[in-house]
Amino acid sequence: MSFARVIVLTIGPVLIIAGCYWLTMAGRGQAALSRPSTPEVSAEEPTAAARELTSLPAACRVRADELAALLTADFHLIIRPPYVIAGNLSASELERHYRETIRPTADVLARCYFERRPDAPIAILLFADNASYREFSREFDGQRRDAYSGYYERADRRIMVNVQTGNGTLAHELTHALAHFDFPDMPEWFDEGLASLHEQAEFSPDGRRLVGAVNWRRYHLLYALRTGRLRPIAALMATGRIREGHEAVDYAHARYFCMFLQSQNQLIEYYRAFRDNVRTDPTGLATLCRLFNGQTPTEIDTQFRHWVLTACSK
Ligand SMILES: [Zn+2]
Repeated sequence: MSFARVIVLTIGPVLIIAGCYWLTMAGRGQAALSRPSTPEVSAEEPTAAARELTSLPAACRVRADELAALLTADFHLIIRPPYVIAGNLSASELERHYRETIRPTADVLARCYFERRPDAPIAILLFADNASYREFSREFDGQRRDAYSGYYERADRRIMVNVQTGNGTLAHELTHALAHFDFPDMPEWFDEGLASLHEQAEFSPDGRRLVGAVNWRRYHLLYALRTGRLRPIAALMATGRIREGHEAVDYAHARYFCMFLQSQNQLIEYYRAFRDNVRTDPTGLATLCRLFNGQTPTEIDTQFRHWVLTACSK
């Protein structure tokens, strides 16, 4: 064996390992809007699972480049596939939001509800204050969305959140983004009900569930209920939509119906059954009645209203 061949065989693998290590660490960088590193290339023919794993980080890097071109120099950006997280916050603050809210919330939701994992990037833009949130939401999406403290732009798989209002809005919008992959035909009432349940929620003691708690939306629900203006649950489900001009009541109605199902230990099962049967039962009403052992919608609605008055009025 020639000396040169010995050198290649001895040092070659070391250089390859060192190169791979450098590429891996470069991909984890948190530089302010720095251009992402070149995607890694495997020499072997990748399996379908490996293709999915390698293509998502590469797609995230492309998405990061697109976002970086639209943001100003005070923004930082980190890539945590499937998330591309940017904001006018420090990289360590972005990392904290990922570690403390985004990842644990997504893990629990995946365990409870979502079978299909994201196979495309989800962009998350976090804003330090209301002024920058309004400025960028107008620039990205026009004036229609800046009245809220956050929203999910479905067509662009992009979350916009003013983090000054707390992490509840982030959990709300993250639920939308993840449900979009798992249950794309989810009707609006259930999409908003489940998402708004998580805007005020706590992890169960074993950390395996996210349990919704009573919040400010109950006042809209209680007022509608006590003044005879709350529609039967079957009517909310039949239209599937949040009504224009009645958003406050319909959001509260949907949220607290999800919370009622959670209190009956039926929410996870209902979500899965509704998703799996949506083609034959697009409103979810037949699935609901089946879950309640064949009770009628009116009987279920009566139980819900009783629960609202006892569990939510204090
Ligand atoms: Zn929402």
